Amino acid sequence: MMIQINKTKCNKCRRCEKACPFDAVSFSDYPEFNESCVLCGACEKICPTKAISIKRTSGKDTSESSGILVFAETKQDMILDISFELLTKANELSEKLDEKVMAVVLVSENTDVSILAEYGASKIYVFADTDFKKYNSEAYAKVISDLVKEINPSIFLIGATHIGRELAPRISSRLKTGLTADCTCLDINENGLLMQTRPAFGGNIMATIYTPNSRPQMATVRQKVIKKKKNPKNPEIIFKQSNYENKDIKIIKETIFSKTTDITDAEVIVAGGRGMGKKQGFDLLEKLADTLGARVGASRAAVESGWVDYPMQVGLSGKTVRPKIYIACGISGAVQHISGMENSDYIIAINIDENAPIFKIADLGIVGDVYEVLPRLISKLKSKV
Ligand SMILES: Cc1cc2nc3c(=O)[nH]c(=O)nc-3n(C[C@H](O)[C@H](O)[C@H](O)COP(=O)(O)OP(=O)(O)OC[C@H]3O[C@@H](n4cnc5c(N)ncnc54)[C@H](O)[C@@H]3O)c2cc1C
Ligand code: SF4
Ligand code: SF4
Repeated sequence: MMIQINKTKCNKCRRCEKACPFDAVSFSDYPEFNESCVLCGACEKICPTKAISIKRTSGKDTSESSGILVFAETKQDMILDISFELLTKANELSEKLDEKVMAVVLVSENTDVSILAEYGASKIYVFADTDFKKYNSEAYAKVISDLVKEINPSIFLIGATHIGRELAPRISSRLKTGLTADCTCLDINENGLLMQTRPAFGGNIMATIYTPNSRPQMATVRQKVIKKKKNPKNPEIIFKQSNYENKDIKIIKETIFSKTTDITDAEVIVAGGRGMGKKQGFDLLEKLADTLGARVGASRAAVESGWVDYPMQVGLSGKTVRPKIYIACGISGAVQHISGMENSDYIIAINIDENAPIFKIADLGIVGDVYEVLPRLISKLKSKV
């Protein structure tokens, strides 16, 4: 891509200089563009005489790319649920594109990866090496980027997990392609392009982003926004040789932090809202959670009140969860909260206001004060243990 000025058209109005958000335009006789230019196009748009042109060339012939590749994330050689969720979505997209669904997985030798085929991977690329049992950003990025260059998929999906969020930008920059992080919705438009939708500006708008000029179209996808569904295939399993030798990064020590605040894979969540009234109210929720083997979540109102930390927030600008049981305590049921938990299997709501919107989606509603209902519930549960 390059930016050019047509001096015969330029009337020296200097609008381009003012419009540039990157201080990339300087003026001597005519505008000149310096190395800060990121080719955002703002000056091209504002120029009244159409004197500026940006030539956009695709890095690759996009028509050559084919197939949807999914990064199958593992932990200690166990394939994580997010991989099945992504494969489910990849299969949905592949029906519209008529392209193959593939998976890439990095594991220790002799790990069985055939479960990926149960969720619709018809080609599975396996890199087997003892070193891959633990995540190593440098090794994973190198090995996967090289594979993507070789097989040239049109779409590449990665989970928006801690690892995925770190790995995806490393790969996209190596491949010189775009990346949309933290998508909540994916679809294919009428031109066969991947529509990558994610909340933007703190969740105030949903932005749909395209990658028209480079391949693969890369996206990380939030956990639990897709319901995993089996779609068995007869897979071709291809064992690849790892070409990673230059081990710049070595894991010296691994410290595992407490997982108590990670609510995304919790089977039972006890969540508190503004109706808990105070920070200490969450001690009661912790007690209930301990009794049930649950984790504690919260509404944004509770997080913004400083009662709990942001990683516990459920909703549009927090986490999306899909537990077996979700107990909403003193949460009104605003649409932004519901969008993060409505796919829970069974929803119990405790609210003092019988007209609270949360009751519309609850399977079981208890109208009452949390400070009366919760202690009784805890003692009842404890008496049964
Ligand atoms: C762009 C954007 C993004 C957002 N993202 C999120 C998000 O990710 N997650 C999120 O949660 N919100 C989000 N919000 C905020 C959302 O709109 C609501 O403001 C928020 O969910 C309200 O939280 P709440 O239900 O705890 O509080 P409230 O709406 O104030 O509800 C408190 C409830 O507690 C009940 N109550 C009060 N006292 C008691 C009692 N003693 N016992 C029982 N019940 C009681 C009340 O009847 C009431 O229903 C977002 C908003 C915007 C604009
Ligand atoms: S394309 Fe964008 S960054 Fe480049 S000179 Fe124009 S306004 Fe500035
Ligand atoms: S906005 Fe267009 S016409 Fe005005 S100075 Fe810049 S290039 Fe020239």
